[in-house]
Amino acid sequence: MFDVIIIGSGPAGLTAALYASRAELKTLILAGPTPGGQLMITSDVENYPGFPDGIMGPDLMDKMMKQSVRFGAELKPESVVSVNFVTRPFTVKTEKAEYQTKSVIIASGADAQWLGLPSEQRLRGRGVSACATCDGFFFKGKEVVVIGGGDSAMEEATFLTKFATKVTIVHRRDEFRASKIMLTRAQNNPKINFLMNTVVTEILGQDKVSGVNIKDVQSGEEREFPTDGVFLAIGHKPNTEIYKGQLEVDEVGYIKVNGNTLTSVEGVFTSGDVNDHRYRQAVTAAGMGCMAAMDAEKWLAEKSL
Ligand code: NAP
Repeated sequence: MFDVIIIGSGPAGLTAALYASRAELKTLILAGPTPGGQLMITSDVENYPGFPDGIMGPDLMDKMMKQSVRFGAELKPESVVSVNFVTRPFTVKTEKAEYQTKSVIIASGADAQWLGLPSEQRLRGRGVSACATCDGFFFKGKEVVVIGGGDSAMEEATFLTKFATKVTIVHRRDEFRASKIMLTRAQNNPKINFLMNTVVTEILGQDKVSGVNIKDVQSGEEREFPTDGVFLAIGHKPNTEIYKGQLEVDEVGYIKVNGNTLTSVEGVFTSGDVNDHRYRQAVTAAGMGCMAAMDAEKWLAEKSL
C-alpha cells in the first residue's frame, strides 16, 4: 500500500516524487517504459533555471530522476493500463502488476501532434520542433515554417518573428480555426507570410532541416520550399485515455482542475501538461508537481490517512 502513486516521470511527476518522499510519504513513480517524458527527445534546454550554460534534455531528466529517488521514492519503468478511482484505496494497474494507494498524482503529460512523416521524427531537435518558446531562440536570423491554422500556429508564428527573419504559416485549408484577434495580429506582422491550401509532404535535410516539400491541395502541384526550421502547431493530445469515465476531462481530454491541482475525485491530484494547455513548460510542470505533492500530503494528513 502506497501513500501516493505518481503516474508519469516528466518534470511534473519527478518533482512531485521529490516533495512527496521528502514529506515521508511512501511514494511510487510509475514512469512508463522510457522515463523522463518529453525532454528526453529535446536537445539543448536553455530556459530551465539553475543551468546558466544550458543543459541537454536527457541530462536534465537524468538529474531529476536521481534527485526524485534520493529520499526513498521507488521508480518503476512500467506503463499504467488502467486505474480504479471508484473504490478506496485506489488501484493502479500496469502491464506487470497491480498497486494499491491512498492517493494519486497524475502527471502523464500531453503529446504534441505530429504529421507522421519519418523525416519529421529523424529531424526532431535538428530544426523540427513543436515548441516555439523552447526552441525559437535557435532560429535567430533564419527562416522558419509554422504548420497549422489555429491559435497555437498564430501565437508561435508571432513569437518566432522575434528571432526569424521570415516566418511562413502553412495551412491545409483556406479558412482559419484561429481567433480573429490572433489571426489579425499575425496577418499584420510584416515578417509573416501565409501559404494556404497547402500541406507539407516531406521535411528535407540530412543532419538539419534545409527545406520542406509542399503540395497545393487544390492543384496537386508539389514544390520544394527552402527553410531552416519547421514548427508544428497542429494541436496537442493529453494522455488521459486511461482515466476516461473516472475523472472529469474537458472536450479535448485535458483533466479539469478545481483550484490548482484538485481533480473531480478527492485524493486524485493532477499536474503538468496533462491539465495545462497554456504554459507547457518544464519549469511550470515542475512547479505544478510540487503543488500537487503538497496538496496530496495535506489531504492525507487531514484525512488521517
Ligand atoms: P487547434 O485549434 O486544434 O488547431 C490545430 C490546427 O492544426 C488546425 O488549423 C488544423 O487544421 C491543423 N491541423 C491539425 N492536424 C493537421 C494535420 N495533420 N496537418 C495539417 N494541419 C493540421 O489547436 P491549437 O491551435 O493548438 O489550439 C488548441 C486550443 O488552445 C484552442 O482552443 C486554442 O484556442 C487554444 N489556444 C489559445 C491560445 C491563446 O489564447 N493565447 C494560444 C494557443 C492555443 P484545420 O483547421 O483544417 O482542422
